[in-house]
Amino acid sequence: MKFGGTSVADIDRIKAVRDLISGEVNNGWTVVAVVSAMSKETNKLIDLAKQVGVESLVDPEYDALISTGEDVSSSLLAIALNSHGVSARSWRGWQLPVRTDSFYSNAKIEEIETKQLESSFKDGTKVAVVSGFQGIDKSGRVTTLGRGGSDTSAVAIAAAIGAKRCDIYTDVSGIYTTDPRIKINASKLKRISFEEMLEMASLGANVLQTRAVELAMRHKVPITVLNSFSKEEGTLVCDEEEIMEKNIVSGIAFQKNESQITLTNIEDKPGVAAKIFGPLASSGVNIDMIVQSNTETGLTNITFSCPADDLQMAKKAISKAKENSLISFERLIENKNLAKVSIVGIGMKTHAGVAQKMFETLSDENININVISTSEIKLSVLIERKYLELAVRSLHDAFGLQNL
Ligand code: ADP
Ligand code: ASP
Ligand code: MG
Repeated sequence: MKFGGTSVADIDRIKAVRDLISGEVNNGWTVVAVVSAMSKETNKLIDLAKQVGVESLVDPEYDALISTGEDVSSSLLAIALNSHGVSARSWRGWQLPVRTDSFYSNAKIEEIETKQLESSFKDGTKVAVVSGFQGIDKSGRVTTLGRGGSDTSAVAIAAAIGAKRCDIYTDVSGIYTTDPRIKINASKLKRISFEEMLEMASLGANVLQTRAVELAMRHKVPITVLNSFSKEEGTLVCDEEEIMEKNIVSGIAFQKNESQITLTNIEDKPGVAAKIFGPLASSGVNIDMIVQSNTETGLTNITFSCPADDLQMAKKAISKAKENSLISFERLIENKNLAKVSIVGIGMKTHAGVAQKMFETLSDENININVISTSEIKLSVLIERKYLELAVRSLHDAFGLQNL
């Protein structure tokens, strides 16, 4: 059972979580409860680090600091369970341990040891409360798994112990056809395939961390997303074969803060793309969509998108490459007021006309498309940010998602 920040936001919420867990213990389950920091705590810690001038996020001290929020909630929950007669103990990531690489602030889990956990269950502990988000690297330093990383802790532990279930409790009642924070009649999905969920998460639906879905898919961990505030049935994230009726489009995901750079009149010869994207990769810019359009004059334009937060870094990397005569182009045109909207569905593999419908719907609303990218089960477009909600609403409508 994993509980996110809002599910452990205050003492009342922690008591509610305690009751959910003791309900499962009474039903005969042995439980590993993975917890996030209390709501907003991680943001506060990040802000404190900035105030004392943290220079890079790839710094073990940064992880040592921002991982501490989880320890408060795991200990509080263990105390609450014990004082309620349910035998529990808390575990920090390093105590299991959850072994990771050394990519501070965004570490990857390499291995989880479960021996100690299992022997504590043999000794009669009913609930292991684990601080999510945390790991330890080879040099013995604490690491963190990236924002939203407690989801990944939960799935990885479930895989490592061969758990029967992995229930992820949050503040909404499952996976919806789009973010329920957008005021439309989003429908709750009964089931969604790992593949679709992976696309949804990586395209902006941060209800589950992308890496958690990747791990669940690889290790076949069935995830149920549930609401810790209400007893509704949640959404099962499972194999495609377990879904009888496949939706053409299951959901709409979006990223609010995107930006785009166009470089004009680049010399069109082998190796230029590598020369442009090499320096961008080395500076850690997260490039997303790329379009190249050739002209007959032997020159070419390249447009690419990246998160708005990475725009300055991208411009710097490109200017430096130009100064060092690694690349040549005429103009750099930027737009930092963009958003990306994506439609996702496994049914797209076998149905034609989905792209056409998406483009027509946006054109009916007079929304211009800057860049398009596709995969077998998704279609993404980059549009002006001010049209984001309108685009999500009209696409939700056009694909009949309110009636799923
Ligand atoms: P937690 O703290 O429990 O990990 P998160 O804030 O990380 O919770 O994730 C839950 C949030 O994800 C919801 O409040 C919701 O606004 C957002 N979300 C985005 N897309 C979706 C979606 N398609 N279905 C459900 N929730 C979504
Ligand atoms: N507390 C961490 C964060 O806010 C991890 C998590 O909530 O999953 O990103
Ligand atoms: Mg989360």
